[in-house]
Amino acid sequence: MKLIQRIGLAAMAAGVFGAIWLALFFDISIQVEPGKIGQPEKRVANIDLMSQRQSGLIVCGIVAVVGTILFVANPKIETRQGPSSGAAMRLPGGQQCPRCGLISPPTAKRCDCGFTFL
Ligand SMILES: [Zn+2]
Repeated sequence: MKLIQRIGLAAMAAGVFGAIWLALFFDISIQVEPGKIGQPEKRVANIDLMSQRQSGLIVCGIVAVVGTILFVANPKIETRQGPSSGAAMRLPGGQQCPRCGLISPPTAKRCDCGFTFL
């Protein structure tokens, strides 16, 4: 696994777990002291804590998305032999489709997947 993928995977996991923790375990309620006699002690949601949780969820979401992009991203240097370089790979026995990786005869104008060779 490449370094950038390790970083991406770590960021993805951190973002997802952070969001789950915020959504499930981040306490947004505060204790309210009983004011009058007969009024029971209770817990109410705190708007400031709610907005903190919301901001945290957004940050976690962005971190998770960026991590996913890093994890999925394939630097072009690494795909020297593989497909997705953009142009058809010229090989001794034919040409490799950049879209699906299938090797077609050198005379083929079009790949089975529909990609048109230049
Ligand atoms: Zn193809």
